[in-house]
Amino acid sequence: LALVTAEAVAKRYGNTTALAGIDISVAAGEILGLVGHNGAGKSTLMRVLAGREQPDAGSIRWRTGGATAKPGTEQPGVRMIYQELALCPDLTVAENIALSDAGTRGAGWNRRAERRVSRKLDEIFPGHGVSVLRRAGDLTMAQRQMVEIVRALCTPSLSLLILDEPTESLSINATRQLYAALRSLADEGVGMVLISHRMQEVLAHADRIAVMKDGRVVEVVAARDTDEDA
Ligand code: ADP
Ligand code: ADP
Repeated sequence: LALVTAEAVAKRYGNTTALAGIDISVAAGEILGLVGHNGAGKSTLMRVLAGREQPDAGSIRWRTGGATAKPGTEQPGVRMIYQELALCPDLTVAENIALSDAGTRGAGWNRRAERRVSRKLDEIFPGHGVSVLRRAGDLTMAQRQMVEIVRALCTPSLSLLILDEPTESLSINATRQLYAALRSLADEGVGMVLISHRMQEVLAHADRIAVMKDGRVVEVVAARDTDEDA
């Protein structure tokens, strides 16, 4: 069951071809790894799959259906975690959480979201050491990344999660905790796209790996041993 399907997707920036004829889909419960050298088109594909950017040609269909979200925002149920950490450094963690969906939820949502994120932080990253009352800018990079990840995991009706280098700042231990959480999320049917230059991580945790080169997917390989051997 595909959560998102890209067909013949192309995208250019001026004279640069970022994507050329991409056909790929992400199934429910699947972790799709995306690898390729710098400039291969990974980030562009990620933004297009999230609905943040429109392709010039081809189509993207989400299972959630409906029209494309407003430019610069994700489709409902789709969430992207990218390299440029999105937390606002001058606000507290709690304020950042409240801000992330400001205007889209009713009164009382902020408090609930805050509690939900705190609880999930404890659950996924025990020993994280984050106080939601601290300025985000005072947290370590690892703590900021954990908050950012957990905030995304709390997205209502999350169906597709797109992760760009999610473990860049994490310790080995937090990395292990993250992948355990991602796998159980996948078991609940959430689909994921995982971009990482850490090939070992992608090999260990992705179900399939798409290799990109010059704006194309040149190879898709099965990665992690799945139930065939079980
Ligand atoms: P680094 O020095 O960061 O390890 P690499 O040149 O090994 O850089 O990798 C750069 C990018 O190329 C990464 O996104 C990685 O996922 C990808 N990559 C590495 N090996 C391969 C390969 N055999 N085929 C396709 N992509 C690869
Ligand atoms: P990757 O994430 O694999 O490094 P990108 O998707 O960032 O690749 O980039 C693909 C190509 O598109 C590159 O040549 C890059 O320079 C270009 N590109 C990406 N985003 C933009 C942009 N906003 N403006 C101009 N060129 C861009």
